[in-house]
Amino acid sequence: MADGADGTGGEMSEEYPGGCVCGAVRYVWRPGVRFKSNACHCTDCQMRSGSSFALQQTVRLEDFEVSGEMAEGGFTQPSGARARLYNCPKCHSRIYGTNDLRPGIAIIRAGTFDHNSTITPDIHVWTRSKQPWIVIPEGAVALETQPDSADGWSELVSASSS
Ligand SMILES: [Zn+2]
Ligand SMILES: [Zn+2]
Repeated sequence: MADGADGTGGEMSEEYPGGCVCGAVRYVWRPGVRFKSNACHCTDCQMRSGSSFALQQTVRLEDFEVSGEMAEGGFTQPSGARARLYNCPKCHSRIYGTNDLRPGIAIIRAGTFDHNSTITPDIHVWTRSKQPWIVIPEGAVALETQPDSADGWSELVSASSS
């Protein structure tokens, strides 16, 4: 079988490599726990990404290994959570973020995965401020805003919530 046979049930432990545009930062995600991905349509994500939404993959920090130096920044989210952002210091690609309300968790900017077309958002948050031309696919979970607690987030992105 060709090794492009992605999809159902790989026997080897899966690895999702990624990195920045210039290659100075590389990472690999080995999902011990697999969370759902989400698209955040909030106005902050639109501005910070310079795009229409942020495509995000929740991971456990212990499943996520980064090589290369990173630049670090911080800001306070609308929820009051203190967020840290990690970028490539050379090309300034944003790689991931953390926040103090969800210890042990990182949110990867899913466009930085080498095979980013495999990441389809299962969940859309802040659809209230989504761009008018974006049509949420049928069957996707869509929230007008976002969960109002860290526990709510954990529940939302847990793969076993159905
Ligand atoms: Zn770079
Ligand atoms: Zn957002």
